Amino acid sequence: MSGDGRRRDGRVVALCGGIGGAKLALGLARVVPADRLTMLVNTGDDFQHLGLHVSPDIDTVTYTLAGRANAETGWGRDGESWRFMAAVRALGGPDWFALGDTDLATKAVRTQRLAEGARLTTVTGEIARALGVGCTILPASDDRIATVLDTDEGRLAFQQYFVARRWQPRVAALAFEGAATARPAPEALAALTDPALEAIVICPSNPWLSIDPMLAVPGIREALRAAAAPVVAVAPLIGGAAVKGPLAKLMGELGLAVSLQAIADHYDDFLNVLIADETDSAVTVAGPATVFAPTLMQSLDDRIALAQRVLAAARDHAAGDAR
Ligand code: GDP
Repeated sequence: MSGDGRRRDGRVVALCGGIGGAKLALGLARVVPADRLTMLVNTGDDFQHLGLHVSPDIDTVTYTLAGRANAETGWGRDGESWRFMAAVRALGGPDWFALGDTDLATKAVRTQRLAEGARLTTVTGEIARALGVGCTILPASDDRIATVLDTDEGRLAFQQYFVARRWQPRVAALAFEGAATARPAPEALAALTDPALEAIVICPSNPWLSIDPMLAVPGIREALRAAAAPVVAVAPLIGGAAVKGPLAKLMGELGLAVSLQAIADHYDDFLNVLIADETDSAVTVAGPATVFAPTLMQSLDDRIALAQRVLAAARDHAAGDAR
């Protein structure tokens, strides 16, 4: 029994995108028992390619938690071979999106199972278990959600913007096709509304590109607002810069200050604690409680230490609430 009278049993739900989010996911998976950890993963980057259903962020998180990720790229599988890609290229097929031979198997099995009528939630669980992942990996919705960007080069599908054009176009606005009519997956909603939850973690993923597609699914944002557990986010900005990727560029293009305050404001309606990097400790953030800690995850130990810090912040917040 916790100080506020609710029964908390160490269950944790964490929302994340791909490469940045998967780093903290690995730390969480080392400190939270597998049967108590649920990863809610972005599907706004999903697309159809070469006849296959590609779910890049789900696969990145799955491979990372399975210990099978490619450590150099952060995406794709370890020990990969590329004969399929070479054959596609030789046929004059599209080679701008790299699919390694073993990664291809994941995509093909997913596509087959979806064609048989299985839900993305079910298939994601099957693949994770087959690869030896102990915790639960879920999409926020089984329905199609597609991030599209209005840019100075016109409207671009996410992978056109991110991979084909290497996030160089200037972004004026984002939209999540399908989200308004998407239904939250029952498993995702059940995880978020579990009264025994100890913490909801927003990983240091891109808030606009990786977290928003999930928040856009009706019911998900509402569940975060109403959550029994503290919501703790790790800021993806360190020293006013992104560790990797288009976050700072995108924030500027959307007319936002590239600041911790803008991150806190973005999650304003549900965020209890923002974990920001210790090098930013002179920054004052209005709104959530702010905890400064080392947030740059280079080693496995960094990931574990940050996961422990996040859970401690959630416990401290819950204890403070109860006083
Ligand atoms: P993507 O889907 O592959 O783009 O990955 P995510 O959206 O999950 O993560 C991208 C974000 O992670 C970027 O905005 C980075 O700034 C942030 N990021 C990556 N590594 C780290 C890290 O070690 N610490 C922190 N605080 N943020 C990170």
